[in-house]
Amino acid sequence: MSPAPELKATLTLPQTAFAMKANLPQNEPLRLARWAKLRLYEELRKAGRGRPVYLLHDGPPYANGPIHLGHALNKGLKDFVVKSKTMAGFDAPFVPGYDCHGLPIEIKVEEKLGHKKQEMPAAAVLDACRAYAQKYVDLQTEQFERIGCFGRWETPYKTMARGYEARTLEAFYSFLEKGFVYRGLKPVYWCIHDRTTLAEAEVEYENHTSPSIYVRYQLTSDPAAIAPALAGREVFTIIWTTTPWTLPASLAVAFHPDFEYVALEATPDPCCVPSGTDVPVYIVAASLAEQVATACKFASVKEIARFKGAVLDRVTFQHPFLERSIMGVLGTYVTADTGTGAVHTAPSHGADDFYTGQRYGLEPTCRVDAGGHIHVDPAAWHLAQPPAFDGMNVWKANPVIVAMLEERGALLGGAQLEHSYPHCWRCHHPVIFRATEQWFISLETPIKVGQNQEKTFRQLAIEEIDKVVWDPAWGKERITNMVATRPDWCISRQKIWDVPIAVFLCEACNQPLIDPALNRRIVDLFEREGMEVWHTAKAEALLPQAAKCSHCGGTAFRKETDILDVWFDAGVSWLAVCESDPDLSAPYKAFQEGTSANPPEVLYLEGGDQHRGWFHSSLLTSVALRGRAPYSHVATVGWTLDELGRAMSKSLGNGVDPVDIANRMGAEIVRLWVASVDFREDTVASENLMQRCAELYKKLRNTFRFLLGNLNGFDPARDRVPEAELLPLDRYMLARTRELTEKILAWYEAFEFHRVYQAVNEFAIVDLSAFYLDVLKDRMYTFAPTSQARRSAQTVLWQITEALVRLVAPILTFTADEIWEHLPAVEGRPISVHLALFPKPEEIFSADPAPLLEEWKQVFAVRDEALRVLEEARQAKIIGKGLEAELLITASGETLALLQRRADGLKEIINVSNVKVVEAKGTTVAEYDRTSTKAISYGDKLMMLDFAVTALPASGHKCARCWNFMPEVSSYGIWENVCTRCQSALHEMGIEPPKSVAAQPEAAK
Ligand SMILES: [Zn+2]
Ligand SMILES: [Zn+2]
Ligand SMILES: [Zn+2]
Repeated sequence: MSPAPELKATLTLPQTAFAMKANLPQNEPLRLARWAKLRLYEELRKAGRGRPVYLLHDGPPYANGPIHLGHALNKGLKDFVVKSKTMAGFDAPFVPGYDCHGLPIEIKVEEKLGHKKQEMPAAAVLDACRAYAQKYVDLQTEQFERIGCFGRWETPYKTMARGYEARTLEAFYSFLEKGFVYRGLKPVYWCIHDRTTLAEAEVEYENHTSPSIYVRYQLTSDPAAIAPALAGREVFTIIWTTTPWTLPASLAVAFHPDFEYVALEATPDPCCVPSGTDVPVYIVAASLAEQVATACKFASVKEIARFKGAVLDRVTFQHPFLERSIMGVLGTYVTADTGTGAVHTAPSHGADDFYTGQRYGLEPTCRVDAGGHIHVDPAAWHLAQPPAFDGMNVWKANPVIVAMLEERGALLGGAQLEHSYPHCWRCHHPVIFRATEQWFISLETPIKVGQNQEKTFRQLAIEEIDKVVWDPAWGKERITNMVATRPDWCISRQKIWDVPIAVFLCEACNQPLIDPALNRRIVDLFEREGMEVWHTAKAEALLPQAAKCSHCGGTAFRKETDILDVWFDAGVSWLAVCESDPDLSAPYKAFQEGTSANPPEVLYLEGGDQHRGWFHSSLLTSVALRGRAPYSHVATVGWTLDELGRAMSKSLGNGVDPVDIANRMGAEIVRLWVASVDFREDTVASENLMQRCAELYKKLRNTFRFLLGNLNGFDPARDRVPEAELLPLDRYMLARTRELTEKILAWYEAFEFHRVYQAVNEFAIVDLSAFYLDVLKDRMYTFAPTSQARRSAQTVLWQITEALVRLVAPILTFTADEIWEHLPAVEGRPISVHLALFPKPEEIFSADPAPLLEEWKQVFAVRDEALRVLEEARQAKIIGKGLEAELLITASGETLALLQRRADGLKEIINVSNVKVVEAKGTTVAEYDRTSTKAISYGDKLMMLDFAVTALPASGHKCARCWNFMPEVSSYGIWENVCTRCQSALHEMGIEPPKSVAAQPEAAK
């Protein structure tokens, strides 16, 4: 009977209860339940007491659907920040938030309610909106928790919470009372379908077909004043427009002051050419004359005068169908690439038109109502019968107006034009520009700084941008440009699902009543009864008895019905949350005041589009109300794309659903993916890439399992070997671990999570699996478990595991905690890895690791050469496995000294039965130095080889237990061919030479 199986049983193989198969989809929810039971978030707060604070203020996702991969990336990154800051020794509370107000939810609720909405009281509609948002707050909370994000999920902040709504109103009142707010007419993007203003960011360009028409306006002022050649002639100018519906609002024609204009004698009909001075004359830009003549199908064209546009300032024309005088105005925005160089100007329907109108004193009254119906100006229509377009929707009015122009001989040319046109981002209907009465925050408001200096709001905001750390750095320029060029902030919307602009307007003069005491009362009411109170209470019940308009003395008031822009309420979250939440207010105040020695940092981390969104509105509100930016750091995240670089969408079916991945592969896989991408760039995700993360996860898990298995029987308190007594290889690995730890800590600090990911993978797969854990097998399996050499390795394996488990905990949140439970017990250890701190590099390895690592680089150069030579010898069938070989290394100089110092460990790291190092002398050098003319590169250093390696079949005999070829093997009881090293190990293990199979020792079982 062969004794081999029993002899094999004396090896100390790895043993751990840490499962090979993770079963993440089943086990992660169990761990979440365990954390909930431990009240881990509260435990983290307790542990953090007294530590410096780090604040990551959550930008609220919109609560109108389940989470998508962009959300998972966003919250995953935030979780990495919060966890890594916590483990770096900060108290990093995280209060997640939800953006609940605004158009998308109101539209969904409107769709659901249908006609019922008209009959419902406002409070009931608000209730329906609240319920809709709450449903998704609950769903998203569950999903964010499922992917392992820590935070105060039981009580997140919600922009629809009563307290939050009250703070939003309070912020608005502060703006109003400090003089930032004005009410004014302004052309704004307007969706006639949704009947609301749209912000610039809420408009998308899509194709649209419009009538493209040329219309003549007859000159009514003296033509000779323009050019003598025009004296006594019938003169027109020609305008080109694609929005005939704006013609009823036409008040002026704009010319470029510096362009050359020509007066053309032209006739449309060659067969009845009028003679001489009866031929009409048309004024158009010289550079566009030919184009216009073609479009208007002029038969003959003759230039009779040429002049600069400037001479057309304040000439007058007759409106083509209204009884209205049209003014010639100048504008440098007039272009010479399309049209006629004469631009029809309707101040109520265009931004340039509006500002030009202001310069010329033209009244921008808008006669298109919220539903897009045109109402004729009674001052310009004296017939009993209103015009056909009166009361019509703008799109229906277009052909009616074109027909009217044709009938009156004012239409010179017409076609259909398909062009890119602004559409509503929600309903995708084309939008119009419409001057409406809106509430604005003026960017030019003067702000007092210091004793007697004043800056504009805009200047101060730009200065504050400069004090913030923007990551990546281009963010600074981007938001600076936006603030520098943005128009005043239109903060009003004509919907219901947001905080009302709770202001009384004077019935007589339309001015707002500004009464701070009244404002405080309304804020209190909002706090107690919710913002519904503005819709339900009667004006008289809210107003003080003696309320009087400060402008006109009027005593009758009406409630404003507009609500605030959703960016306003998201933008005051620093006030409604950071300043007001008891968990955050003290450190946030310390940040704002900046007076403490170490004021906390405040980080905002969101998508790059938030330079125009949340970063922007938060900056403006905080600069206006507190004189400083609300954050010290801003980091931006790129878009999430598919492998072909396309945005993810339902219609393309290329989306990767993080919840689905969590349920199929594990949340840990989603988290690994988040860590794998450089979030500052656009990131790519696919099923494929998730599978790759899952593969990698398996490798990492196996490495940890192997580490844990080899720690079986190791009690750090009893068995730990002091650093000075460790074997050289083990010391080297500790130095490597210290180096890695230093790098990883710096990368966490810089939010370079993808570098952490790469470095951990490389360390686990290359340094550990392929090298250290592999070469240790001989020592770990065959040495006596309690031997100093084995304990030396275990000490280092334990320290590596203790360091690594902490370093990966922010990313591999579930698995690190599982590993933690399988580590050897240590007194006073926290109950979860998440309550532990990052390892301190100097506690891993006390000395500067650099010199040792440098020395080992040379050892590895020898090892690389040795492995190459061994492979050659294997190819040549000189040897078989590594242990069947021995090496002869000849060397000289420094390398010889080094190899002699490291001679003991060479056998182990090369994994052969024996290594002999001899000095290269005379001809022996030439004999072995096959590579003296070659150079090999190792690491970043190119070094000349001053050594040579020869592989030989190992001398001696193969030990049946450790498989090393040893000079001496003999019988150990019934076991044959056991080397002396193994025999003494067996002896140390208390295993006496067995006499027969029946007499197997206990330890061998
Ligand atoms: Zn719309
Ligand atoms: Zn008044
Ligand atoms: Zn042996």
